[in-house]
Amino acid sequence: MNTAELFGTLVFNDDVMQTRLPEDTYRALQKTIARGSHLELDVANIVADAMKDWAIEKGATHYSHWFQPMTGVTAEKHESFVSPADQNHGKAVMEFSGKALVRGEPDASSFPSGGLRATFEARGYTAWDPTSYAFIKDRTLCIPTAFCSYGGDALDKKTPLLRSVQAVDKQALRILRLFGNNSASRVNVTIGAEQEYFLIDKEVYQKRPDLIYCGRTLFGAKPPKGQELEDHYFGAIKPRVSAFMKELDEELWKLGICVKTEHNETAPAQHELAPVFSIVNIAADHNQLIMELLKTVADKHGLTCLLHEKPFEGVNGSGKHINWSLCTDTGINLIEQGETPFVHAQFLLFLVSVIKAVDENQDLLRVSVAGAGNDHRLGANEAPPAIISIFLGDELTEILTAIENDAPYQGREKTLMEIGVTALPHFPKDTTDRNRTSPFAFTGNKFEFRMPGSAASVADSTVIINTIVADAIGEFADILEKSADFKKDLAKLIRANIKKHKRIIFNGNNYSEEWEKEAEKRGLLNLKTTVCALPCFITEKNTALFKRQGIFSENELNSRYEVMLENYCKILHIEALTMVDLMKKEIIPASIAYQNDLAKLIKNKKACGGFNCALEDRLLGKLAGISFIFLDRLEELEKNITDLKNGEPLDVARYYQNTVVRSMAALRQTADEIENMLGRRYLNLPLYGEMLYSVN
Ligand code: ADP
Ligand code: MG
Repeated sequence: MNTAELFGTLVFNDDVMQTRLPEDTYRALQKTIARGSHLELDVANIVADAMKDWAIEKGATHYSHWFQPMTGVTAEKHESFVSPADQNHGKAVMEFSGKALVRGEPDASSFPSGGLRATFEARGYTAWDPTSYAFIKDRTLCIPTAFCSYGGDALDKKTPLLRSVQAVDKQALRILRLFGNNSASRVNVTIGAEQEYFLIDKEVYQKRPDLIYCGRTLFGAKPPKGQELEDHYFGAIKPRVSAFMKELDEELWKLGICVKTEHNETAPAQHELAPVFSIVNIAADHNQLIMELLKTVADKHGLTCLLHEKPFEGVNGSGKHINWSLCTDTGINLIEQGETPFVHAQFLLFLVSVIKAVDENQDLLRVSVAGAGNDHRLGANEAPPAIISIFLGDELTEILTAIENDAPYQGREKTLMEIGVTALPHFPKDTTDRNRTSPFAFTGNKFEFRMPGSAASVADSTVIINTIVADAIGEFADILEKSADFKKDLAKLIRANIKKHKRIIFNGNNYSEEWEKEAEKRGLLNLKTTVCALPCFITEKNTALFKRQGIFSENELNSRYEVMLENYCKILHIEALTMVDLMKKEIIPASIAYQNDLAKLIKNKKACGGFNCALEDRLLGKLAGISFIFLDRLEELEKNITDLKNGEPLDVARYYQNTVVRSMAALRQTADEIENMLGRRYLNLPLYGEMLYSVN
């Protein structure tokens, strides 16, 4: 099969629906998809039947509601299509009803809910989301669903995402109407999520318990060669990796996922993949599938894919760049310069809403990328710092400054920019030499949010971007709808907001120390860690914002806050235990064996007639000295873990941050020093260089 034939073969997409559903059923379903209207059970029954027949023809034996609980990974519970046809079970029939399609009841007591769903009422339910296509994976028909409690509280990442899309849609349409656009009936959020990851040899991976339990290395001395030569970035792809990428492409194509680029990233063993953008609900589902397939396809090739934000210290970590834009159902990108002055004014208004939204909600954007893993990455000289700012490029910034000051813009010709009257000078799309250090960059027709970690769900940050932009647009719409002189008030509004929020615009080097100082002067937030950031999630301002936009009730918000705190603590707990264990099982025995050999050698040499033992003496002395510090630090970490007391989740998280994280860092430092002194044969574990260069 060629690529075009392969594409989407495992997806119950629009083509399949058109050929397999009776016309009136197809129309009813389309209406539900486009407008979210209710689907009658008899229609659902027909759809379910067609889905089942199609899936069975493709070799599926099971179906599953596929959902995204707050664990961050997807969940599925497989049910067989097979039912006994008679009481003696002599025959079987393949069954799948409309009821089973529309609603599922997984036993969900073990999913995190932050107290929303007490365990005695264990069942949440999953509800079919017809806006994302069903697909086949592992001979199972997967039905994308939202996951809620019986009280209707969202227990997943998809529900708030869908709500936030509705919020932007509603507010953006108000603006479009003000600009005389009556043809668009929907504004969609489009997302392209670039995914970074590491690939290492599976056998090497299996020898590192820290990678197995924590997804990242907890110790390991720097290899002689890291990424300093920058010879991996865009370098030739190795045959084994290339074979992996080829199969991955095919598997993704079958699921209707179009991957545009696959190249080597900066760090050794690091790669990146970018799918072609799509509407956000599908992009979020696709990104989950991409992460899953990266792992399973790698495994087939004797490789392991690491999605952790920082698997290796000393080389770059992995992010997930979220490209975000707004697009009408008539195909107009609202974050793009148009042709006429009036469209330019509309573009400026959307642009300024994003600027206002980001400036007023730096805290929420920071919360949306918070997590134990990303704490190692943000601000670590390879990823944006924890300070949120927007990159616009010099030209657009100058245009905004000219507008703000009502001064002529010195472009190719000197022009006074009258909003809605003059056309914006054409500024370049700036794709080649744009600022890669910015956390939130305007890239010509979209914004690129570069802070999210590689393992995050697309939904995490997109919910926030959608919500804050919806709120800003809504505020503008409130003002403009009341205006008696639209053009004049529009210009006033844009000017006032540039003035008010320009502090968030920064085109320089975000990695520099000067920026940190400058940002502080500008009064921008610098929430360096997850624990600093998370409390912002539930402030009065943000609780009201989420309520106003219909994204989270106060209960839902508090539960999410708790889940994030718990998750942070659990990850650190596992890491600390793994580290202690590895120190005792690997580093100490290796160090002792080496010291023992040295001591024996010294003794033997002396017995043989007093040979010079300078080397052995010095090494032994050094190791013995360092072992003492090592033991102190190991005991401190162990004590920190045992001293742990239950309490308010935020206090516990603070405890982890202030004691456990610190003592792990100290212990790692000595462990790495010891590792550096040991002969290779004393260590059972693969070293950094052996992991980073394990794939040939
Ligand atoms: P580059 O990173 O070289 O600038 P692109 O701009 O083409 O490459 O794309 C980066 C990512 O942004 C891709 O995943 C792409 O599909 C996505 N993207 C492009 N246009 C949009 C858009 N309008 N909305 C959302 N994502 C987009
Ligand atoms: Mg990018």
